[in-house]
Amino acid sequence: MIKHHPKFELLEAFVNGDLPASLSIAITIHADMCPLCQQKILQLTEQVAEQSFEEDVISLDNLDNLDSSSHFDISIDDDLESDALFDSMISNITFSEDVAEVVKPTDKSVTFKDKTYVLPTVLSNIGFGKTANVGKLSRSRLQLNEDEIHTNLLHINAGGGVPAHTHKGFELTVLLDGSFTDHEGEYNKGDFIMLDGTFTHTPVSENGCLCYTVANDALHFTQGINKLLNPIGSFIY
Ligand SMILES: [Zn+2]
Repeated sequence: MIKHHPKFELLEAFVNGDLPASLSIAITIHADMCPLCQQKILQLTEQVAEQSFEEDVISLDNLDNLDSSSHFDISIDDDLESDALFDSMISNITFSEDVAEVVKPTDKSVTFKDKTYVLPTVLSNIGFGKTANVGKLSRSRLQLNEDEIHTNLLHINAGGGVPAHTHKGFELTVLLDGSFTDHEGEYNKGDFIMLDGTFTHTPVSENGCLCYTVANDALHFTQGINKLLNPIGSFIY
């Protein structure tokens, strides 16, 4: 069962189109598995649509209050023109044969250590880099080209984990398959885990897992000998 969801502010930013692609994708993946967040997104989308409608009405009211009738005439002309434009756009769309040719993206799958996973549909058209392996960790980078924000598929083999680490930035994990645990408890398929730099954790996966991860800074290993692993921090980032 999904226990960890995106914060409300994040869903709001998602609906307003304010998030970078990496985070929008993360929310889409989570919402596809989470009816609760799907519902929230639907409500927020309706609210945003209503708000922009109200803003339109307000700006029309302001036009009504203007004394100069010439302003009003011009706006009517504009409206007529845009109505005609809109009608012709609609008829173009309606009669275009292209519309019938919309192809549903085919699901993409990835294989890590002999196990094949079908990826969420939202990832179907995104390119992936080569898989790199260190110990029980494998990662493949998504080609989203978002500068300091790096997005990966991270696979942890059964019995593997990531040594105690922290971040200067944020670390987002969406569990696509399997489960892992840290000091906070167990995380399962669909869980959306957003951590900021104040957290230190040591995720371990008993039976293996596949995660979608987004980070905007390398991991910093924090404990004794683990500090020697900081090159792995850059690997995972
Ligand atoms: Zn949710």
